[in-house]
Amino acid sequence: MSDPIESLTKAAKQLLEIEQLLGGQFTPSAVNSLPEVKLPARTAAVANLAPGDKSAALDAMNQNEVKTCTLCGLSKTRIQTVFGEGDPNAKLVFVGEGPGQNEDESGRPFCGRAGELLDKMIGAMGMKRSDVFICNVVKCRPPENRNPMSNEVEACWPYLMRQLQIIAPKVIVTMGNPATQKLLQTKKGITGLRGNWQPLPELADSIGGTPVMPTFHPSYLLRNYTPQARSEVWSDLKQVMTVLGLDLPKDK
Ligand code: SF4
Repeated sequence: MSDPIESLTKAAKQLLEIEQLLGGQFTPSAVNSLPEVKLPARTAAVANLAPGDKSAALDAMNQNEVKTCTLCGLSKTRIQTVFGEGDPNAKLVFVGEGPGQNEDESGRPFCGRAGELLDKMIGAMGMKRSDVFICNVVKCRPPENRNPMSNEVEACWPYLMRQLQIIAPKVIVTMGNPATQKLLQTKKGITGLRGNWQPLPELADSIGGTPVMPTFHPSYLLRNYTPQARSEVWSDLKQVMTVLGLDLPKDK
């Protein structure tokens, strides 16, 4: 049985994290009035690897292929590859566009201020970074943090597809324009797409139809730390929580 004090402390911490994320804009009544979520139908059978096999498959891809990859020009300017990290059995995968300087130096996805904000967002959902899987469309840093070019994305694309096939998440959250547009095969912008469930197109065997929730990239949120932008991201994350069967925060 769970310790009631521990549960209360956890709940209080979660509310504090939400308030920090939203800058005091959290309103419990809004939580309770979420519309019913209508998910796109999943159109293909998902991969069914055993938990240990998923971990081994990801590790083998990283060690044997990605770490030494020279398939595109980004291999010449990177310090190291950034494969992604988290639970190989995660129900939720976050996908960004590519590593930045901090990630290039550390070899880990979403470090620095954007990573701290993403950690807060995950914490507000009642989870830890280690409960989800976080990765990018390209595994090497584009110089000067420019967007990855189409030939770089195409070269790296099979790695992301295989990561998603192995993990077979219940939900994918795309963060920002490049990741959202590439995964959803659209030219529409994130402002119009965010907040609405989209089925992942048939990009690779077994992952077509996986529900995708597009939302703003944490870096964008840091540059535009407005109550509206924060509230919109939190609204997107609440939809994800609902689909994952996570408890939404109770009234204070
Ligand atoms: S970005 Fe991807 S394809 Fe290009 S070198 Fe890095 S791992 Fe290889």
